Amino acid sequence: MTAKIYYDNDADLSHLKDKTIAILGYGSQGHAQAQNLRDSGCSVIIGQREGSPNYDLAVSHKFQPMSVAEAVQKADIVNMLLPDEVQGEIYRAHVLPNLKPGNVLMCSHGFNIHFGQVEPPKGVDTLLVAPKGPGHLVRSEYVKGGGVPSLIALGEGAGEKTRQIGLAYAKGIGGTRGGVIETTIAEETETDLFGEQVVLCGGVSELVKAAFDTLVEAGYQPEMAYFECMHELKLIVDLFYQGGLSYMRYSVSNTAEFGDYTRGPRIITAETRQVMKQILTEIQNGQFAREWILENRAGAPAFKATRRRDRNLLIEQVGRRLRKLMSWIDSKEV
Ligand code: NDP
Ligand code: MG
Repeated sequence: MTAKIYYDNDADLSHLKDKTIAILGYGSQGHAQAQNLRDSGCSVIIGQREGSPNYDLAVSHKFQPMSVAEAVQKADIVNMLLPDEVQGEIYRAHVLPNLKPGNVLMCSHGFNIHFGQVEPPKGVDTLLVAPKGPGHLVRSEYVKGGGVPSLIALGEGAGEKTRQIGLAYAKGIGGTRGGVIETTIAEETETDLFGEQVVLCGGVSELVKAAFDTLVEAGYQPEMAYFECMHELKLIVDLFYQGGLSYMRYSVSNTAEFGDYTRGPRIITAETRQVMKQILTEIQNGQFAREWILENRAGAPAFKATRRRDRNLLIEQVGRRLRKLMSWIDSKEV
């Protein structure tokens, strides 16, 4: 089954005419979506707490940010662009009491709606429009006349009118210039979590750490291990990005390609694939969501401890030193 893709001609900005859009949160997605919508002629207000750099940023972009509650009161369309782990709490305290029938409640990631942390009242449809890229790219592509491909998904019970609003919103942020794929909130949420856990964040980090440790424990210099197992990953990922597996294999040496075919399947084994299935099941049955929600309720102790421990790993220490030798790297320190 191939996905349905919408472009500019499938979306009509007039569905946002006379509607006030409240963007809650002026962070990565908030600042980008708010400015793009405004530049597309939409009426946009910002709900952002005072006293943070993001508040000042909104002011410097000529918005007049107000409290979340006030923004929701004034809006027809409300988009929660707040961190996923605080959305449920902010929703119950400040959003829900101010929603009116006919409002549309939006998000850019379905976690809270899918796992029941955000439950819309009767008469309020939910809608997801999610750019497949970080906020700064959503903004910079729009300014250049392009757009980041996006997803659209209707919440339970939402109909054609809400789809039209969603497509208009996607057009307003530049998404239909790149193409908008229709999905469901369940599919968006589950695939997003799976991707970040198994490949993008969890899988890759552990693969790199394990390979680095293997070389260092065998007596090789940590600097060499860093270059081979972490630094060079970027070259490979860039080739994937440009031309998939085939282009990567075309670009590397035949020796590297032969090593790929013969050794790769010994690293990602039948057992690994089995664990991937288990991780997917934990996402689908809500076990991961419960763990993360409870972790946050407890003040995130395990999360913070792991973050602290991993910042001091040998690979991190070596990396900090080596990146200083490479002047072309826009190196960052956390
Ligand atoms: P950011 O962390 O960049 O921004 C969050 C915003 O929420 C900030 O303006 C922040 O303000 C505000 N905020 C944080 N905590 C609170 C609080 N307790 N009360 C009130 N306001 C608060 O988030 P993102 O833009 O990255 O993410 C927003 C949504 O977009 C999420 O659902 C995410 O999954 C989704 N998304 C993100 C993508 C990305 O690339 N970043 C891509 C696609 C979707 P303050 O400065 O005061 O902390
Ligand atoms: Mg993602």
